[in-house]
Amino acid sequence: MKKRITSVLILLALYLSISSGLFAQEKPKLILQITVDQLRGDMPAKFMKNMGNGGFRYLKEKGIWYNNAHYGHSNTETVVGHTTLATGADPAVHGMISNVWFDREAKKLVYNIEDSRYHILSENADIDEDTEIDASQKLASTDGRSPANIMVTTFSDELALLTNKKAKIFGVSVKDRGAVTLAGHTGKAFWFSKTSGEFITSSYYYDKYPAWVNKWNNEKISAKMFGNKSWSLMYDKSKYIYGNEDDNEWEMDIAGFGRTFPHKYGSADSKYFNNFLIYSPAGDDLTLDFAKALIVAEDIGKDEVTDYLSISFSSTDYVGHLFSPSSLEEEDNILRLDKTLAELFAYVDKTVGLKNTLIVLSADHGSPEAPGFLKSFGIDVDYVSPNKWDKAPSILALKKKFGIGQELIQKFFPPYLYLNHDVITEKGLDLAEVQKAVANELMTIKGVALAISSTDIMSNKLPDTYLSRKALRNFNMARSGDILILLQPQYFYNDFEGEIVAANHGSPWTYDSYVPVVFAGWNLKKKTISRKVEPKDIAITLSNIMETKPPSGADGEVLEEVVGNN
Ligand SMILES: [Zn+2]
Repeated sequence: MKKRITSVLILLALYLSISSGLFAQEKPKLILQITVDQLRGDMPAKFMKNMGNGGFRYLKEKGIWYNNAHYGHSNTETVVGHTTLATGADPAVHGMISNVWFDREAKKLVYNIEDSRYHILSENADIDEDTEIDASQKLASTDGRSPANIMVTTFSDELALLTNKKAKIFGVSVKDRGAVTLAGHTGKAFWFSKTSGEFITSSYYYDKYPAWVNKWNNEKISAKMFGNKSWSLMYDKSKYIYGNEDDNEWEMDIAGFGRTFPHKYGSADSKYFNNFLIYSPAGDDLTLDFAKALIVAEDIGKDEVTDYLSISFSSTDYVGHLFSPSSLEEEDNILRLDKTLAELFAYVDKTVGLKNTLIVLSADHGSPEAPGFLKSFGIDVDYVSPNKWDKAPSILALKKKFGIGQELIQKFFPPYLYLNHDVITEKGLDLAEVQKAVANELMTIKGVALAISSTDIMSNKLPDTYLSRKALRNFNMARSGDILILLQPQYFYNDFEGEIVAANHGSPWTYDSYVPVVFAGWNLKKKTISRKVEPKDIAITLSNIMETKPPSGADGEVLEEVVGNN
């Protein structure tokens, strides 16, 4: 009798282990990819003591947290990072090398996802030149947007291909480039119009808005939630690391919004209103509200086919630029972001179930500290002025040598400098020789760490160094400039195109390359991983889990801890 019970128990144990093993093989119903724009890798831990349980702490205590993830490309900007997250490829391969590049045929700077074949579906929702603070957005010469400039497939594209379009794929963000990149070529993207206060899309995606989007927009939610309200601190000042430092001289003092709490949003009729919302945690609140409406209306995660939803939260980036990452504003913003994430996870748990949802969170880039803040710690900082390079004595001497009277430097938009090829051809000069001569002159400028020509990059003449490896991974022949300029650590451009902000990312240094990479939900168990990984490993890992073929340019490593092999 005793023997029989034992064998029954053994059989039962076997059955349970097999069935739970099978259960673990099941695919998630939803992949929820979250990107926090400008969330440097150290920021969640730095502010965690005042956080609740359901947001970052849930990720930390239940998820797989990689705490040494760095981008491997040199130009740590928004579209570059987002596209790397989406495609698992380097910018050299996916082609989104910068927020802005010079189109040699059109002879003008272009915005990364602009596409004149399409238009946005709303009237009066295009960028307002008067109020837009994003210098890259202002360069778009059309309101049309599409992913056409992304030269490879995204993970979301591969999911669409695998399921023959049955997977529902969406990208949502305040920023157009935060939404379009991760939705890929096959998904649908929505972003926020600072002019109209609506979530909008382009005719690339839809001929007309789905009914639920019209409903959300018609409800005038931004005006209802925030009209005549302010952004105030969530807790007493004494709880904050930066509670006594609300009024630093390096913070931006935007008329009407101010440099100190409370930051007033003003009347919903003001043309600055929606801009002020996105300079604050309100932008993330609106993004969450819209994403919730999407989850319900589109039946996300409801059937056997895995769906994909990307949400890119932009407020951390705007607050970082205006006030710096180590400001009272950013501290409060991160604590509010933590609540927003907790609310999102609770909502997804209710609608889809967190056990059915694979969450992945990362950032598109980090951020430097404000130069003034660094100085207050005795850390040396300095500036480089790029605006007058064409008239700098050394460049003038070069132009004289080459017999060039006209402008030689046609455009500079960090980090790329574009030479006037027409003049070089007209004078019968050798492009490589002129590039080299200009690069050599730029290398003598204090603060320039590396100035390299596209010819040297293409002919593999670079020494194998930290900087040139990163530069190579950012180089695309069609879009990168004649010369790539990288500044030394703690050096910044000042007064570039009149743009002065508290802190500006974009360098190859660790403060800009360091981001969190976290997986949670589904069947994952807590782990903290310290080995070096890259955000581009995310797409190939998702492909591996979903058994899609890899995105066409993906060359990251599968994260073994996530797929269950480690
Ligand atoms: Zn960004």
